Amino acid sequence: MITLALSKGRIFDETLPLLQAAGIEVLEDPEKSRKLILPTNRADVRVVLVRASDVPTYVENGGADLGITGKDTLIEHGSQNLYQPLDLQIAKCRISVAVRNDFDYAFAVRQGARLRVATKYVAIARDFFATKGVHVDLIKLYGSMELAPLTGLSDAIVDLVSTGNTLRANNLVEVERIMDISSRLVVNQASLKLKQAPIRELIDAFSGAVAAREAAQSKA
Ligand code: AMP
Repeated sequence: MITLALSKGRIFDETLPLLQAAGIEVLEDPEKSRKLILPTNRADVRVVLVRASDVPTYVENGGADLGITGKDTLIEHGSQNLYQPLDLQIAKCRISVAVRNDFDYAFAVRQGARLRVATKYVAIARDFFATKGVHVDLIKLYGSMELAPLTGLSDAIVDLVSTGNTLRANNLVEVERIMDISSRLVVNQASLKLKQAPIRELIDAFSGAVAAREAAQSKA
């Protein structure tokens, strides 16, 4: 049995075409079903639904053979024991610093002010501001980061940005782009040895589908 760990939403939706390219069809819709283990048309392949931030833990410890999650999650988790064979180029976004429209970020940085930064991405934020030489007090949040500068909890946030609509709707502005993010395939190292043929087959099918999509996009 091959177990693939996915999170619901964008990653699940954008993985379906990749699975299709490998001849795999998920037989239940996670938005309609309460099941956490979803069967596929292949008796030897199943999908388990976990939180995006739990995907590295599941795969690292053998709860799943493979998983798909964002580069942001992998950096925060510090996944050294995971084999990462493929950037799937899905769920693309960026991780950025944002502040209130009326906060002069450049001035605060020039002044050497100590910034209060709210984020779920503490490791990424710490590393970014340390490299920049800016002193920060990091405030760990688990969601709705956009609220922090609006309520006075923080001066800035570090969060994922895709269209920028969420920032605009909350009178926030992106002031630094830290890095581009996309989702990666991760594989348990023991599974790769023990189930080499089916896992290789899956990696190759995914890789072919990613290359075909990139080629089609560059032509368009
Ligand atoms: P947007 O309004 O399109 O800029 O999206 C921003 C909101 O969606 C923020 O709350 C982000 O945390 C979340 N978001 C954007 N891209 C992703 C992604 N690839 N994975 C998970 N969350 C995301």
